[in-house]
Amino acid sequence: MKPSIVWFRDDLRVADNPALRAAVDDGAAVALYVLDEESEGLRPHGGASRWWLHHSLVSLRDDLAALGIPLLLRRGDAASVVQKTTTALGAGGLYWNRRYGAAERTVDAGIKAWAGEAGLHVASFQASLLHEPWEVTTKTGGQYKVFTPFWRTVSAQDFREPLAVPEKGHGFTGKLPAYDELDSWNLLPGKPDWSGGLAEMWTPGAAAGHKRLAAFVADGLSNYSEGRNRPDTDGSSCLSPYLRWGELSPFEVWHALGSKRSESAGIFASELGWREFCWHQYFHNPNLATANLRPEFDRFPWAWPGSNNGNGKHPGHESAPEEFRAWQQGRTGFPMVDAGQRQLWHSGWMHNRVRMVAASFLVKNLGIHWQLGEQWFWDTLVDADPASNPANWQWVAGSGADASPFFRIFNPEAQRVKFDPQGKYIAHWIPEFGTPEYPEEIVDLKTTRAEALEAYKEMREVH
Ligand code: FAD
Repeated sequence: MKPSIVWFRDDLRVADNPALRAAVDDGAAVALYVLDEESEGLRPHGGASRWWLHHSLVSLRDDLAALGIPLLLRRGDAASVVQKTTTALGAGGLYWNRRYGAAERTVDAGIKAWAGEAGLHVASFQASLLHEPWEVTTKTGGQYKVFTPFWRTVSAQDFREPLAVPEKGHGFTGKLPAYDELDSWNLLPGKPDWSGGLAEMWTPGAAAGHKRLAAFVADGLSNYSEGRNRPDTDGSSCLSPYLRWGELSPFEVWHALGSKRSESAGIFASELGWREFCWHQYFHNPNLATANLRPEFDRFPWAWPGSNNGNGKHPGHESAPEEFRAWQQGRTGFPMVDAGQRQLWHSGWMHNRVRMVAASFLVKNLGIHWQLGEQWFWDTLVDADPASNPANWQWVAGSGADASPFFRIFNPEAQRVKFDPQGKYIAHWIPEFGTPEYPEEIVDLKTTRAEALEAYKEMREVH
């Protein structure tokens, strides 16, 4: 009987994995992961993501080994790697869970066509999202642009129960084609090694994800509606990187909430809904990271870059003003922003409330294009997500679908008083706060707020 290949991508788990299930049902399975930095249009991973991916692959390899299934690692453009590996193995089946980015879908469609012609049994599955973006449409058949009706429609569906981990004994034991050593991919930082703080906070891999999910459901969920806004507590789930890398499936998280839902559990479920909504937007707008969803923002008079860039390209950050470095490095003189940026640099994660505050400060008080902030988060977050990151940046900037109106400008000082009332969060991340060593405020909040509103007015007046 011919072996089957299961091609892992953003689904680094053995539980609730329909592609893995299909492969083991079909014959002796071999797992494949391709580090594709060559296919056109794929966004290269940021530094923190590369760190996570390395450890996640180690964990996946162990989980697969426990089932007797070998994991082949190959670097290169996916189309040729998958073809070569399939041919070298003499595989009869090829299975994967679907991806939703445009460039990824082009790659996958090409491979599917080739595999069909080559006589392979090829199939793909829904595993990373609770909804299929092309199936959920408005009454007029279009994409959803507003969250509430979107989530009302999606959450009314019955989501399938998670699939169990396959039984042992379906692994391929014959000769394997050539594969790469994980270390040769150099995913981990060299010198300086900035990953110590990441390792302190995180254990990548499905086992740690399940542990965190169980602990959150037991201890955090009932207080989530309050706790989620408080960066000074462990009030949110910290499940984002596990969902990003598919170590946990959204179906597992959804069903872990149980069927009788408290108000807090409903709010938490709707956060999963925001993840779905971000992917819905990304599916329908593949340039989400490089183009304003609201085209009038192409005319926004940013302080930086001075000329506009609604041209689908990232503005480079090399010549960005000094304020941008101060923002990245957490020395703006606004403790809520600085604590957040230091938390991000140290641990690869920032609390959601602080992400909103830090993003609003960059865009509205410094007048710097949201894309620069989006790129910084992309490089530094362990949960850097091709849909959620740009969608949330556009939400804060006011240029996105169902976005926060531009004129709602977060005041970092008011946010600090409200959400870190005892100053615990600030004290943790900024030990020198309150001493002469802490930087002066780099801008005046009132003046820059007025300038931002003026710029917004200008954008609206130009025709
Ligand atoms: P919880 O509050 O426990 O939420 C549970 C899960 O719901 C999260 O793990 C996440 O998967 C999802 N979720 C919650 N809020 C959102 C949201 N606003 N949008 C999409 N999904 C959400 N989230 C990412 O996963 N990746 C990103 O790259 C990312 N970039 C962001 C950039 C900015 C400027 C902002 C304001 C938010 C961003 N978010 C991103 C959303 C949110 O901040 C994180 O998902 C959340 O902080 C993760 O922590 P948690 O797992 O404890 O969240």
